[in-house]
Amino acid sequence: MTVAPETTGPVIEQVRRVRTEVPGPRSRELLDRQRAALPAGLGSTLPVFVASAGGGVIVDVDGNSFIDFGSGIAVTTVGNSAPRVVARATEQLQRFTHTCYLVNPYESYVAVCERLNRLAPVPGPARTALFNSGAEAVENAIKVARAATGRPAIVVFDHAFHGRTLLTMTLTAKNKPYKQGFGPFVADVYRAPMAYPYRWPTGPERCAEEAAEALVDLIDRQIGTDNVAAVLVEPIQGEGGFIVPAPGFLPKVQQICAERGLILIADEVQAGIARTGTWFASEHEGIQPDIVTSAKGLGGGLPIAAVTGRAELMDAAPAGGLGGTFSGNPVACEAALGVFDEIEEHDLLTRAQRIGETMLSTLRDIQRAHDVVGDVRGRGAMIAIELVHPGGDRRPNPELTTRIAARCHQEGLLVLTAGSYGNVLRFLPPLSISDELLNEGLEVLRSAIAAEA
Ligand SMILES: *Cc1c(COP(=O)(O)O)cnc(C)c1O
Repeated sequence: MTVAPETTGPVIEQVRRVRTEVPGPRSRELLDRQRAALPAGLGSTLPVFVASAGGGVIVDVDGNSFIDFGSGIAVTTVGNSAPRVVARATEQLQRFTHTCYLVNPYESYVAVCERLNRLAPVPGPARTALFNSGAEAVENAIKVARAATGRPAIVVFDHAFHGRTLLTMTLTAKNKPYKQGFGPFVADVYRAPMAYPYRWPTGPERCAEEAAEALVDLIDRQIGTDNVAAVLVEPIQGEGGFIVPAPGFLPKVQQICAERGLILIADEVQAGIARTGTWFASEHEGIQPDIVTSAKGLGGGLPIAAVTGRAELMDAAPAGGLGGTFSGNPVACEAALGVFDEIEEHDLLTRAQRIGETMLSTLRDIQRAHDVVGDVRGRGAMIAIELVHPGGDRRPNPELTTRIAARCHQEGLLVLTAGSYGNVLRFLPPLSISDELLNEGLEVLRSAIAAEA
């Protein structure tokens, strides 16, 4: 039996195994209960009910074992039930579960903030406040930006995803399923084109420059510079399809903000915390945002989110203006400290880079054999392929994407879809996955593409 690297918690056999139909009989029973008890708006990508997970696998209640290329959407980056996360959170559960930081403070909250202040690529002295979810972090980053500038307008990009609350779904680009029927939306949100190299009308070479020109036009002419508080950007877009902005675009955005006194907010909720082979994805282009949000990978599976920003901006919000009842829960803070330890002790930044190299090289090989794989992109353990119709005209192929994902699921590989056109397969393995399982998963994918293309 192969056991994944030391990052695995409880010993779970590291194998791909499908021994029932998917979902199996026990999962189907639970799905019947789900349908009777939960609203229809809560769906699952792969509706098998989980019994345990760790290393690189998820085991369901029917005994099927799936290779995990999803990490609960980039959350269990250090692995499910990672030992240091479990140990710290368990000890904290015995000590106390909650005080509300706004009532009585505790050290672990401060320690998480100190760590993020050192790690985040924010220029100068930083401050951090903790929250419960990515959407809450983005909401609070915007509250801070508005309080610090006294201006209302927020600039976001096409293909952006920032969450499901009223403000953050307004910031999100895609209508279905995130916005349809949920309006009216928030005022003073403006959208610029994203420097999306694969789909830029005049080609990838002109992409960064022309997208920057469009951003300037939006800010200076359409909104009016004096009305703009912040520009909010994902350094690698997540739900939008792992779009890596054209090289040079993010530095241009930073320059445009700096010249005008606008606050640059990097939404690193999905790409941050070691996922892309650096602590934060902003580092790949050397940008230094004024404010950075993080969440998904931060708590090793426990809900915790953070806003880290330049001290003078963060201090602009009045006392009592930030925080929340559950924000920075002590168990989640201990889990986050465990995540930092796991990343440092196992050099998971390097591990994410290696996983990226392996995935990119196999996926490019698959692309050479199948012209339906239009684009292969991403950084570190955040990689995606974009599927198109054959013939080279780049027409999105969401039907093929759905079929390939379904076949992978039947074969014991959990993959997630994404993309504004529903035609992206994204791969987010936990950094605790073994090379053996990583390669096996990629071969399952290769066969699924060959069978469906
Ligand atoms: C997931 C995500 C969010 C929202 O996070 P939740 O915890 O689901 O509220 C915000 N921004 C980005 C970039 C995300 O990927």
